[in-house]
Amino acid sequence: AILFRNLEKYYGSLHVLRGISGQIHKGEVVAIIGSSGCGKSTLLRCFNRLEQINGGQLVVNGIDLSKSDLSRKYLLELRAKVGMVFQQFNLFPHMSVIDNLSLAPRKVLGKSKRESRETAEFYLDKVGLSEKARVFPDQLSGGQKQRVAIARSLCMQPEIMLFDEPTSALDPELVGEVLLVMKQLAEEGMTMVVVTHEMHFAKGVANRVFFLNKGQVEEEGNAREVLSNPKSDRLQAFLSRMS
Ligand code: ATP
Ligand code: MG
Repeated sequence: AILFRNLEKYYGSLHVLRGISGQIHKGEVVAIIGSSGCGKSTLLRCFNRLEQINGGQLVVNGIDLSKSDLSRKYLLELRAKVGMVFQQFNLFPHMSVIDNLSLAPRKVLGKSKRESRETAEFYLDKVGLSEKARVFPDQLSGGQKQRVAIARSLCMQPEIMLFDEPTSALDPELVGEVLLVMKQLAEEGMTMVVVTHEMHFAKGVANRVFFLNKGQVEEEGNAREVLSNPKSDRLQAFLSRMS
């Protein structure tokens, strides 16, 4: 679970998160939507300590991220338990797909070569790419790269997955295969926080949605209800721009 209260984040004098509160429960899929620059990526990055918060409370999977000092032990635990998938896949270009997947489980979790390969093969199969184990990232399509990136995260056996616009860099015809993998993950009960512009996905797959505006939660609630029947003028305007 992720619990956050009155979160504040500044970049220098720029006040980016202005008192954001909420909870993300185990097994929930939460979509975060909002206009460019409203703080979606910043919020997500706070959840796995890629950014430090400047005020408020934040507890992720039982780890208190409210303090400015966090021991290396807890940081490693956090990074292992909270996976993140970015818009730009971030695969290691000089490594085969299977090596991309087995690296962190070996280095961070201390798994044997054999065990990490088996895990890698399992998750590669899960994203439908068993036959690509030996190829290098530049031999994959964008959609395949992103599915590999998701599988790579899953190899760490995370309890929470964060997605920052995972389909925004893809050609339109490749978006569906990535969303399908994410939908399956959601159905298996993974706790997911997804920053997305895919309103269809948000409505169909997410349990809840947060609409951010200028670093604050403008509207929040059941995804289907909020997106079908937005209350705030700003969300109405946002949704009509999206469609
Ligand atoms: P987008 O939809 O364009 O990805 P976003 O909602 O994810 O936008 P953020 O990336 O969280 O927005 O950025 C929020 C604000 O913080 C923006 O004004 C951005 O310019 C600023 N910002 C983000 N990262 C940094 C940084 N590392 N240093 C300084 N300012 C930053
Ligand atoms: Mg962003």
